[in-house]
Amino acid sequence: MRYLSTRGAAPAASAAEAILRGIAPDGGLYVPEAVLPVLSGEAARGAAGGPFPETSLEVLTPYLADFPGPVLADAVARAYNASTFDHPEVVSLRSLDARRHVLELWHGPTAAFKDVALQIMPFFIAAAKAVRNDRTHTLILVATSGDTGKAALEGFRDRPGVSIVVFYPHGGVSEVQRLQMATTEGANTRVVAVRGNFDDCQTGVKALFNDAALRERLAAKGIAFSSANSINWGRLCPQIAYYVHAYRTLVARGAVAAGGPVDLCVPTGNFGNILAGWYARAMGLPVRRLVCASNRNNILTDFFRTGAYDLRREFHRTSSPSMDILISSNLERFLFHAAGGDGAAAGTVRGWFDELRRTERFAVAEPLRRDMAAVVAPGWVDEPRVFETIRRVFRGTGYLVDTHTAVALAVCEDQMAAGGALGPDGPPVIVASTASPYKFAGDVLAAVTGERPDDEFAAIERLRQVSGVPVHRAVRGLREKPERHTRVTDIAGMRDVVEEMLS
Ligand SMILES: *Cc1c(COP(=O)(O)O)cnc(C)c1O
Repeated sequence: MRYLSTRGAAPAASAAEAILRGIAPDGGLYVPEAVLPVLSGEAARGAAGGPFPETSLEVLTPYLADFPGPVLADAVARAYNASTFDHPEVVSLRSLDARRHVLELWHGPTAAFKDVALQIMPFFIAAAKAVRNDRTHTLILVATSGDTGKAALEGFRDRPGVSIVVFYPHGGVSEVQRLQMATTEGANTRVVAVRGNFDDCQTGVKALFNDAALRERLAAKGIAFSSANSINWGRLCPQIAYYVHAYRTLVARGAVAAGGPVDLCVPTGNFGNILAGWYARAMGLPVRRLVCASNRNNILTDFFRTGAYDLRREFHRTSSPSMDILISSNLERFLFHAAGGDGAAAGTVRGWFDELRRTERFAVAEPLRRDMAAVVAPGWVDEPRVFETIRRVFRGTGYLVDTHTAVALAVCEDQMAAGGALGPDGPPVIVASTASPYKFAGDVLAAVTGERPDDEFAAIERLRQVSGVPVHRAVRGLREKPERHTRVTDIAGMRDVVEEMLS
């Protein structure tokens, strides 16, 4: 499989090149040249009820065909096992009622869905370097809204031939997220707080990536940048597998007839997780609609409703910080595919993103907007609704969800109502649950009991008492760990952090 740039002005790349580079030289994102319909018809059912690692290998193989088969099989086995994920199925499906099935993606080491991709991605980097006989040192730059950072640090720490620097918004992540990152061990890790929001961190990282002079100086020292954000194809493709696995689990449980339709509902920030669902659909998995659920940062809802992507708006800090994003990177990949697969064609991706940079806004033509809206159903909810949803779901079913998952459940309810895109009589919905409730325990406890202890760890303990749900291992013992990373910098200082690593 070859990879093209969404902006149409870079040569096609192999999977190994796409993963090592992270971003294409023309500033675009790498997308697979073809999305093979390998899951259509009877194949969607596959080995219904089969283990997740098997499905993962099945899905990854066509996309990473330049890696030797045994290398890929070894990567899957080492990434997804009882020592990395504390659920025997790796990801698990919990039915709330006959229609809503919550896909728990947070049983990995850092309690967020990003572990699914970031436990395996370090093996991709190593395999890609081996395939290309590349002996450079890889410097991974990460911008995080909270969860990617820790998941990437855990994936890459102490891996040979790799260093990792994580930038997160100072004051913009939860206390547990901050402590998770600040206590990271490993000689090859660095974590820096940036005075700015997530978009500033992401824009700063992209600027470092696109700085040709800096790259040259790195190259002279035998170092090359890569990225562990979902702009990297190596982050996205492992996520396709869990939607396939969830579908097959529903078939095995008799909740869906083999080949019958489902809907997906995904709490969305950078549009990566939902895009993985779209790839599963494009590969033939019988997914009817994709619900794009947002918090108050509802730029995507507006985009799918009006066709205009408009950055000139206020940024809101919410209780679902991993979705507090205005520049939703992976939308670019979706637009590339939706607009016909030529990013340089007039009135498509390159033009839109040039316009976005110049004017902070672009708009797509109405026929394209309508095509996209036939697949993606957008919606957003405000903060009171998030808290009310957590409380109501817990009281009604005894099931505890985090704030991000609550956004998805609430938007799902709206869409399942009469007049909603899914409607009252639609097929089962797979709702992605992206974090353990213990990762956002303060807000979850406040939602359930109205209590708001000053201390996040008191909230964790109280939540355990109230819910009886065991505390996630990512959070247990966190308070006792020494903080090793305490640096804070301005946006302009991000560059210095990287420069220092050169000397
Ligand atoms: C990253 C994250 C999201 C958003 O996922 P995207 O792929 O960026 O859309 C949602 N919930 C949680 C808990 C996350 O960590």
